[in-house]
Amino acid sequence: MSTYKRYDLLILGSGSTAFAAAIHAQDLGKTAVMTEGRTLGGTCVNRGCLPSKNLIEAARLVYDAAHPRYPGLTPAQLDVDFPSLIAQKDEVIHEYRDQHYASIVDDTDEEGQPPIEVVPGQVAFVDPHTVEVTAPDGTSRRLTGEEVLIATGSSPLIPDIPGLAGTPYLTSDLLTSQEGMELTELPRSLLILGGGYIALELGQMFARFGSQVTLVTRGPSILSGYEPEIAESLTEILREEGLQIITGAQARAVRREGDGVALSVSLHGSSRTFTAEQLLVATSRRPNTQDIGLERVGVALDEAGAVRVDQHLRTSVSHIWAAGDVIGRETESQMATPVGAHDGKIVAHNALSAEQPRKVDHTVIPRTIFTDPQIAVVGLTDEEANARGIECSCNTIPLSVVPRAGAIRDTRGVIKMVLERPTRRVVGVSMLGVNAGEVIHEAAMALRFRATTDDFIDLIHVYPTMAEALKLVAISFTKDVNRLSCCAS
Ligand SMILES: Cc1cc2nc3c(=O)[nH]c(=O)nc-3n(C[C@H](O)[C@H](O)[C@H](O)COP(=O)(O)OP(=O)(O)OC[C@H]3O[C@@H](n4cnc5c(N)ncnc54)[C@H](O)[C@@H]3O)c2cc1C
Repeated sequence: MSTYKRYDLLILGSGSTAFAAAIHAQDLGKTAVMTEGRTLGGTCVNRGCLPSKNLIEAARLVYDAAHPRYPGLTPAQLDVDFPSLIAQKDEVIHEYRDQHYASIVDDTDEEGQPPIEVVPGQVAFVDPHTVEVTAPDGTSRRLTGEEVLIATGSSPLIPDIPGLAGTPYLTSDLLTSQEGMELTELPRSLLILGGGYIALELGQMFARFGSQVTLVTRGPSILSGYEPEIAESLTEILREEGLQIITGAQARAVRREGDGVALSVSLHGSSRTFTAEQLLVATSRRPNTQDIGLERVGVALDEAGAVRVDQHLRTSVSHIWAAGDVIGRETESQMATPVGAHDGKIVAHNALSAEQPRKVDHTVIPRTIFTDPQIAVVGLTDEEANARGIECSCNTIPLSVVPRAGAIRDTRGVIKMVLERPTRRVVGVSMLGVNAGEVIHEAAMALRFRATTDDFIDLIHVYPTMAEALKLVAISFTKDVNRLSCCAS
């Protein structure tokens, strides 16, 4: 075991949360060290956001070529060479990781600030200021920190289904590179367990590359927690594309069958079995709080196994902080990269700076599901507003009323707005439609500044854009949007 080294900030993990904290520590002239048991950069860059969005776009090109929306364009069948697609994905990821992660560590910044260090290996607390990092070759090293940040992220949650442990299955780790679980061959058929964003993004992607996809979820619909109009509309779109979507199914058993897998479910009182070449388990994610010695240092967890934090992201131990996926829904957080990065910086500030501590504010977090069309949401759903006792009113309009959607022959989707009725303040927006992930930023800024429907209506929007959907849905509370001329006026 090598010598101790004491850092101002000791970080468990090296994902986007950890990096944001380490970079801000460096800006403050403090020493920081990260630890990493897998690949530098964490989930987003290596096996989450970036690889999925790279391949999803390739799948969209394949689909659009085969299904041109314009009469006059002849459908074209693009050959899908899946191993080559995976190779280019790995290349893009390696390049991005080198540029945005690897190049930052062990390097002093321009003003000669202390370097950010990374120690590879599995990390666990030994005492409240000390961790032990065990490298793949079995050697270990202890690190100490004046302040400590837990940023160990989350992992796929594997449900307890009889037979699953003895059957080969995939998780979202199939997107990874340089690790054994990377998927390099396109499955002929794919059974997906789950109805959340990962199941939907990957399900549509594989179907577009040519796999026969069956998505099985136990909820009454896909996307629990989202507006029902959005879930219904996306279900219809995906079914039209050829995905089989089974809802209300309780998984009972999994077994190998021939070269593939069989999943037995109970469905509305009867038994059904679905088979496919591969099974992808995408049911949920759990915070990485096991096996890191939290019990030794007294860091409290919530019922979901996430690290409990206060509004300053301080855990139950005063010099230990937590941020990113590992805090789950604490402080109404969301498991998403920009949330962790935003909060990692707040931790570095609160832990290391003499200035006034900052509180997190998770009331406005725009989110996107990168299906085609995209789903984007911000603020409260109808149900959430009601649960909070907000006297609200809601309207949903189809995107067929948006001039741009008609002009580009893609009218799929809907937009829903939730208002606080007495003040007409907008408290939530959900959209399924082309470029929804871009449009949602206008709504997010509006929520941040407590805008009303009049603010959306008074704002001159670029014509013709999908952002006009926001203006139109705001107008729809008082007028029939089918009876407007150009520019929603
Ligand atoms: C398929 C998929 C698609 C996604 N798409 C998006 C998207 O489009 N947009 C978006 O915003 N978010 C997306 N996400 C979520 C996003 O990836 C996460 O919210 C984000 O990466 C969390 O960052 P983090 O730093 O908190 O944790 P992570 O990035 O997971 O980093 C934690 C690191 O800690 C390491 N670690 C854990 N335990 C130990 C230990 N004991 N010892 C040593 N190291 C350890 C892990 O190996 C990991 O590298 C996606 C996730 C998945 C799985």
